[in-house]
Amino acid sequence: MSAHDPNCIFCKIIAGQIPSKKVYEDEDIYVFHDIHPWAPVHFLMVPRQHIPSLAQLTPEHERLMGRMMVLAPKLAAEQGCNPYPDGGFRLVCNTGAEGGQEVHHLHLHVMGGPRPWLRG
Ligand code: ADP
Repeated sequence: MSAHDPNCIFCKIIAGQIPSKKVYEDEDIYVFHDIHPWAPVHFLMVPRQHIPSLAQLTPEHERLMGRMMVLAPKLAAEQGCNPYPDGGFRLVCNTGAEGGQEVHHLHLHVMGGPRPWLRG
């Protein structure tokens, strides 16, 4: 698996070749607002490395995925999601065609804010 796929839209966003509204970045992770938000807060968390989906993860990715999970509630709060338990957020990771995945670069959708949302 190559670290960068020149045909991948999220690799292009990470490389700055396509503009994005950045929420956060570090050496392993890039986070940006979804271009078609379903909720008042909706951002995407992606590894810089081109990993197509959860289906390609190996034990070497455990730290990376753990970091993303620990980062999600912190960024959700910074982006305006109300605190747990009355607030909170939804974390979605569509995997493969039958899982609804359209962009094949692993990404976590983080969605929150006052309901109702566009997609329940
Ligand atoms: P789905 O479109 O069914 O949610 P995915 O889980 O693969 O499928 O999600 C891809 C997400 O990427 C979509 O929510 C879409 O709005 C978002 N997206 C696509 N292109 C861009 C872009 N250039 N900048 C920000 N978000 C994007």
